[in-house]
Amino acid sequence: MTQPITVPLLDLKAQYATIRDEIRAAVDAVLESQQCILGATVAECEAKLAEYCRCPHAVGVSSGSDALLISLMAEGIGPGDEVITTPYTFFATAGVVARLGAKPVFVDIDPQTYNIDPAGIEARITPDTKAVLPVHLYGQCADMDPIMALADGRGIPVVEDAAQAIGSEYKGRRAGSMGRYGCFSFFPSKNLGAAGDGGLVTTRDDAAAEKLRVLRAHGSKPKYYHALIGGNFRFDALQAAIVAVKLRHLDQWTAGRQSNAARYRRLFEAAGLTAPLPSPAGRGAGGEGLVRLPVEVEGCRHIYNQFVIRAPRRDELRAYLKEHKIGNEVYYPVPLHVQKCFDYLGYKEGDFPESEKAARETIALPIYPELSDRQAEWVVECIGRFFERLTKTDQPLAASHD
Ligand SMILES: *Cc1c(COP(=O)(O)O)cnc(C)c1O
Repeated sequence: MTQPITVPLLDLKAQYATIRDEIRAAVDAVLESQQCILGATVAECEAKLAEYCRCPHAVGVSSGSDALLISLMAEGIGPGDEVITTPYTFFATAGVVARLGAKPVFVDIDPQTYNIDPAGIEARITPDTKAVLPVHLYGQCADMDPIMALADGRGIPVVEDAAQAIGSEYKGRRAGSMGRYGCFSFFPSKNLGAAGDGGLVTTRDDAAAEKLRVLRAHGSKPKYYHALIGGNFRFDALQAAIVAVKLRHLDQWTAGRQSNAARYRRLFEAAGLTAPLPSPAGRGAGGEGLVRLPVEVEGCRHIYNQFVIRAPRRDELRAYLKEHKIGNEVYYPVPLHVQKCFDYLGYKEGDFPESEKAARETIALPIYPELSDRQAEWVVECIGRFFERLTKTDQPLAASHD
């Protein structure tokens, strides 16, 4: 039996300890230059990110939310327009649509990947549809071929919410290089995090890149002449310098996350937690085990921003893990179509059953690159103990998967 240890959901201090000197030197250089907003440091960081994302243009902005907002602004989206997206995502995805006075139109997710189900998109397209906004949730790309086919055929731009998916690939193409815009976040808990807020928009379109650069500085071009109404979406040089340093380590960190995921798979299987359950009386267990592991789609590079499992008795499991000092989180407990602020859209509970089910059943486990063997073993051991305790004392467990 493993000795009890603490396992945080994410350990940014452990990561910082490995790059402290590089970061401090980069920060110092910016401070000495006193060029703190945009400028050469930002331009260099953008060039490196463009290369990494395999996209000709990368425009640094103030956050991932603003990356989404400015992309929709560049398309002139506003009142009367509709944007098709998923209700199972971070709030910003749909929040930016509503802030522009446009209407978020939701389509349910594929229960295997938690990404928007392309099969549901066509029926929601109207003459008012001005963008499709898929999210590459948890670090795995949405099924982009059918999405691009549907949108391209109608001249509708696709905006990729790649905030959780830097370096993720779909059939050899990088996240952010498929749609007209790719939106990234440098929020500290993302795979490539700054020491504060920051974001990026990638695009293959020269004119779109130019428009984004103008919009991020209040639409000013030339200086103090405004043909467009933009905003202050500028990227800080200190953040750019930190992101550029961390980018050098990103592939190694991603490899760490991927090997942690593979290790979890081995541990969950060895513990018998994924083996099919006997069918409880009157209810089919569907040949599923207690724990359903994330599905990796063939031909995709999953970068594991999150490692999300499904489990019965999710809330009790959460409490048990918390008691044992194991960090965990639910992304996301309330799908967007039933958020209070979106009451006016007229959706109701039951409209998107897969999103609602995912919101009830999923839990994210620690997957950060520095997670040790012992920590991973302890996480799986605790989950095993939780279910062992329940099966001894309680009713059938498979029920809540139905
Ligand atoms: C983090 C995130 C955002 C917003 O990014 P910020 O930098 O926090 O503004 C948008 N969409 C998704 C899916 C995210 O995970």
